[in-house]
Amino acid sequence: MNITSLLDMSVTAMSDRTLIGNKADGLSPAELRRRALAGATYIRQSGAKVVGYLGGNGPEFPVALFSAAYAGVPFLPLNFRLSNEQLDEILARQDGLLLLTRDAQRIEQGALSLDDFELIVRDGAEEEATPSEADDIAVILMTSGTTAAPKSALLRHQNLASYILSSVDFASAEPDSATIVSVPPYHIAAVANMLSNLFAGRRIVYLDHFTADEWLDVVRREGITNAMVVPTMLSRIVHALEESGQDAPETLRGISYGGAKVPTTVLQHALEAFPNVGFVNAYGLTETASSIAILGPEDHRTAMASDDPEVRARLSSVGRALPGVEIQVQDENGEPCAPGVEGDIVVRGPQVAGEYRESGSLVNEDGWFRTRDLGYIDSEGFIFVKGRADDTIIRGGENIAPAEIEDVLFRHEAVADVAVAGVPNDEWGFVIAAFIVVKPGASLSSDEVRAFARQHLRSSKTPDEVHFTDEIPTTPTGKVLRRHLVDGLLEGVSS
Ligand code: ATP
Repeated sequence: MNITSLLDMSVTAMSDRTLIGNKADGLSPAELRRRALAGATYIRQSGAKVVGYLGGNGPEFPVALFSAAYAGVPFLPLNFRLSNEQLDEILARQDGLLLLTRDAQRIEQGALSLDDFELIVRDGAEEEATPSEADDIAVILMTSGTTAAPKSALLRHQNLASYILSSVDFASAEPDSATIVSVPPYHIAAVANMLSNLFAGRRIVYLDHFTADEWLDVVRREGITNAMVVPTMLSRIVHALEESGQDAPETLRGISYGGAKVPTTVLQHALEAFPNVGFVNAYGLTETASSIAILGPEDHRTAMASDDPEVRARLSSVGRALPGVEIQVQDENGEPCAPGVEGDIVVRGPQVAGEYRESGSLVNEDGWFRTRDLGYIDSEGFIFVKGRADDTIIRGGENIAPAEIEDVLFRHEAVADVAVAGVPNDEWGFVIAAFIVVKPGASLSSDEVRAFARQHLRSSKTPDEVHFTDEIPTTPTGKVLRRHLVDGLLEGVSS
């Protein structure tokens, strides 16, 4: 199975639906394929061995992706937020690159303008596709670089197709259903979301520059039924909805969130703000071609309604493994941990990419990929992600997960946002620093923060330092950039 056969199936079964873009001028699957075949003809004639995409979020993204797929060459979505130097370095490593972009300087240097590509796909000749094998590389995706330098995961057709086939029923969406995508195109969530919605038969509406107000406007205007958001977007949307005094958009039936941990207080708020919406927590990585576990709407409802603390706690879990995916928590010897015991989260299955471009195989001899997330699995298979191994603060020999402290501080009524990180220290190795954004109009002192933490956490987990800041830096997919906060502090930038 390859991703072009997924589109071919959509063309056969749903040719009368608009599936890409706005109600008024969106593309049907047949038109998407026609354009992609014309794009593929151009790509093949150009002799390109890889298609780079340095563009935004919009219908041109799936057209470019499928053009590369029908031409049988890998597609490389690039992070337009990287510096020119970083981009130059990545581009220089590509052999036989055809770059699609609107960047004038890069066009001067030989890249193809996305506007010209648009004309080619509209009017160009379409020839037969070059069939890709399941084992061919479909998409090269860089990891987010939250904890280390980004790595390029080589996602094969079978990795992406396995995710779609294990998580989506073909043509299952109601004909009038639509989803809104506002995550950047260089992230796995944008690739996987586009493919799974296309396969399900749900129209995909793009919002290129996210603001909560614009998101709510598009949801109302386009009759959006389902959405995928990252944690920062979710809390901004809930806040904007509350500020507006309006009810939640009527058409909205499902919100899927993930990409980073959503603080439980933010989630509870969201569940109250959208009472008629089914929530899904999706947990996944670039290397696993998107989600490997989900906490579904029913799990959310059961957890919210339960008095049993173990069941209620599941609101902060990422749910259970998707069909065809094996997830284990292992100890340092690679042995599975008993339920409730913390260890390394590892994953195995056809979704897992085989290799990084830079460093080769990413799985061990038994096929397990180490996510570098720490967590545990409860007696009923619910997976709890406690944090990332690389974020662990080792304070005086004790391993401390920042997420646990953040979750507590988030509960303080004056806290708008918070991040916790380790700061180098001569005596302890590292000490715990809490970076806090105070809600407008509220006041909070370091002593109050520490006293609040002390009520809910043992003393070794109470922040040693408290720093007040205007903003917590995150990646566009909502991952907290703890390194930036600590670097800023060490350079004396933060107050
Ligand atoms: P790098 O490896 O370069 O630091 P990255 O791992 O942040 O980048 P991604 O593949 O985008 O790049 O992120 C995967 C990580 O995101 C997971 O390992 C996990 O820590 C986090 N994550 C994803 N979904 C969820 C979720 N639903 N809940 C909690 N954490 C999540």
